[in-house]
Amino acid sequence: MSINFNLNDVNASKWESIEPYLINLKDREIKSSECIENLIHDESQLSEIISETRARAYINMTCQTDNQIYQKAWTDFVENIQPKLSEYNDLINRKIINNKFVNDLPERYEVMIKGIKTDIEIFREENIQLQTRLSMLGTKYNEIRGKQTVYFDGSEKTFAMMAIYQENTDREIRESAWRATTSRIIQDSEEISDIFEEMIELRHQIAINSGFRGFQEYIFAAMHRFDYTIQDCLEFHESIEYSCMPLKYDMNLLRKEKLNLVKLRPWDMSVDTEGKKPLQPFIDSDDLVSGCSRIFHSMSKELGNYFDLLKENDCLDLESRKGKAPGGYQYYLQKSRMPFIFMNAAGTQRNFETMIHEAGHAFHSFYSGHLDLIQERDSPIEFAEVAAMSMELLTHPYWNEFYEKDNAERAREKHLKGIIQFMPWMATIDSFQHWIYGNPNHTREERKIKWLEIQDKFGSKVEYDGINQEENLEQIAEISWQLQGHLFGAPFYYVEYGIAQLGALQLWKYHKEDRYNALKLYKKGLSLGYTKGLTELFAASGLEMSFSREHVSKLIQEVDYELSENTLKH
Ligand SMILES: [Zn+2]
Repeated sequence: MSINFNLNDVNASKWESIEPYLINLKDREIKSSECIENLIHDESQLSEIISETRARAYINMTCQTDNQIYQKAWTDFVENIQPKLSEYNDLINRKIINNKFVNDLPERYEVMIKGIKTDIEIFREENIQLQTRLSMLGTKYNEIRGKQTVYFDGSEKTFAMMAIYQENTDREIRESAWRATTSRIIQDSEEISDIFEEMIELRHQIAINSGFRGFQEYIFAAMHRFDYTIQDCLEFHESIEYSCMPLKYDMNLLRKEKLNLVKLRPWDMSVDTEGKKPLQPFIDSDDLVSGCSRIFHSMSKELGNYFDLLKENDCLDLESRKGKAPGGYQYYLQKSRMPFIFMNAAGTQRNFETMIHEAGHAFHSFYSGHLDLIQERDSPIEFAEVAAMSMELLTHPYWNEFYEKDNAERAREKHLKGIIQFMPWMATIDSFQHWIYGNPNHTREERKIKWLEIQDKFGSKVEYDGINQEENLEQIAEISWQLQGHLFGAPFYYVEYGIAQLGALQLWKYHKEDRYNALKLYKKGLSLGYTKGLTELFAASGLEMSFSREHVSKLIQEVDYELSENTLKH
């Protein structure tokens, strides 16, 4: 029954405009499973519009954190629309689940209904204002980080721009750049710790309100992690320690030897060990976009055409500038059916990888764009990251679009080494969070000790002693978790990258054997959106989901093998 449900006039930035439609949905009479299907369909149509309004407000806000109008529009949405929307969503969800006809729904709705049931179980009205407060704290964190610039080398620079100096072959330049950035980070560290502590308290309270013992259990339900447990994550950390740490230590030792260092300092970690100039795949974002377009066209006409649509539709904001929020993301505009990509490009290899990564997310959006309902066009984060991270690996053979032959090899080698370095970092962030929320009443001192302990297990053996001078720069080792934005804006959203990397490495293996087949498997999984659960999506792309030592080691060994092959070729 879609009568009187004409959405042409909805202005989703005004609550008065949305509410009548939500009331219509909430009060409808349900006489059959078809009525439920219509309800879900209409709700989806309305959600598309609201989602796109939210997306545009978020995009504007992150592109210009210093624009007061954009800030206000975002704050308005978060404070005035989102809370009321959650209330109605819960009412409509309950209306669906509590109706006897829900059992007659076709199989198509299975995954959706399972998610809704969980959302209802954990929903508490008193949590809404706590969630709003959390969103505001997240925005505050972004504002603080967005303002972090330093005056260096003759001009004001963002951290993204400063990162380039860490690849400079002149050790003194690297050191002074590191010192400038680090002292700037430390200036804000107390304020950020305050924000984080309030967040921990709020999150713990939310979990207790919802009937859980703590936030870990709550978040597993809230994130619909139905296919793995807290215990699986802990097993995963161990498998990573076993398979990656010996390789990581070897790499660092080799780095120290090659650079001929007495002490391995934090400013020695990104420079090329052969003394080569940093990789600079592109000058500006036009270079980046045209090069990536050529890569995707070489892979397949379909991927190339999809990528070109982003530029044609003005869906890219790539260059780093002051006032832009840090990081990168892809946001799907649900009504326009167009992905938007945001990042802070400053010409580095890492920036190039981010572009490819976000393009992978965009392909996922395009491939699932044919699905009817907004919930179906979503996907579990773990699988969304397979789409993005595997694209980084699958593009390897085409990286010479940006490089001469030797440098393309160098870039690939750096990327593969990055995977071996990243998995322990993922385990660091994930185990840190398990500890944080497992011990919500810890002190700042205890948190510091725990962070150092985890870094000792998974970190590089970087030496900080004696770098103090007049400022307290050693302190960075104790608070470096503050640089990981996920801890603030998206708690526990990190193991996903590890799980996805396991998937990505498997697709990469397929791709080395048969490129056509790998892209076919890639598309097959992605096109399913969220119509299947995580394990099934993995399976659709031919991927095994396991955290065992055997499985993880096998995949990491594949990376190590490729690296030793490369070294032999040099
Ligand atoms: Zn991603």
